[in-house]
Amino acid sequence: MLIIGSHISFSKGYEDMGKQAVELGANTFAFFTRNPRGGSIKALDVKDAKRFVEFAKENNFGKIVAHAPYTMNPCAQKEELRKFAKEAMAEDLSRMENIPGNYYNFHPGSHVGQGEKIGIEYIAELLNEVLKSDQSTTVLLETMAGKGTEIGKSFEQIQQILEKVELQDKIGVCMDTCHIWDAGYDIVEDLDGVLKQFDEIIGLYRLKAVHLNDSMNVRGSKKDRHAKIGEGMIGKETLVSVINHPLLKGLPFILETPNEIEGWKKEIKMLKEEYKEK
Ligand code: FE
Ligand code: FE
Ligand code: ZN
Repeated sequence: MLIIGSHISFSKGYEDMGKQAVELGANTFAFFTRNPRGGSIKALDVKDAKRFVEFAKENNFGKIVAHAPYTMNPCAQKEELRKFAKEAMAEDLSRMENIPGNYYNFHPGSHVGQGEKIGIEYIAELLNEVLKSDQSTTVLLETMAGKGTEIGKSFEQIQQILEKVELQDKIGVCMDTCHIWDAGYDIVEDLDGVLKQFDEIIGLYRLKAVHLNDSMNVRGSKKDRHAKIGEGMIGKETLVSVINHPLLKGLPFILETPNEIEGWKKEIKMLKEEYKEK
């Protein structure tokens, strides 16, 4: 079964997000754990989280992929910003235990001129402080486009972070198709080759989720501007190959395409139709 969904806004709570996902024809979704640009957090409704867990079971949901706010920079230069990132992630992860066993995705961050090495060090340090051996959530590092001083633009950089993490069974990777394309990986001409590289450098067992996006820019542009499926430089054919790839079977595919409800409904319907093994 194809596990597919889109971003949903966390306005009314978990159960409401689940219902919205079903309305879209989805069986997973992503949501921001807190205001994506600011960082403020909603009060937690434990009963709502419980109702959602039941709802997700009844509706055969795959794992959902929570997203940390953009403003969180785990490898910022200013100590107070790194402290915010650490505290926000710790609080988010403790909340995630109310909807156990799902994924929490974050952007590794931007080293802002301190250099990759220091950036990678800070990110690993943060993970080693925040991850707990008894948590049920797997934390995912997102592959990035390489805009500015972003860390995570190559599989090597992601691996360098991963190998410094002590609790190895609590971490994984979320691969964003727009980002790896913008970073230079040629998934249009050689999807197999890119996945082979991922496997050799990181290990495909680490890949837990995919952000399925087309890109407005050419390969290697380092831009990170998402396009609707089939309306960008990656194209529908490649993105359909992604959801059907034997090595990616069973992963949750999350659309972060520039759409509203109707657009996501259409994309989800189209991708379900293009999915080979029903
Ligand atoms: Fe992201
Ligand atoms: Fe993404
Ligand atoms: Zn992006």
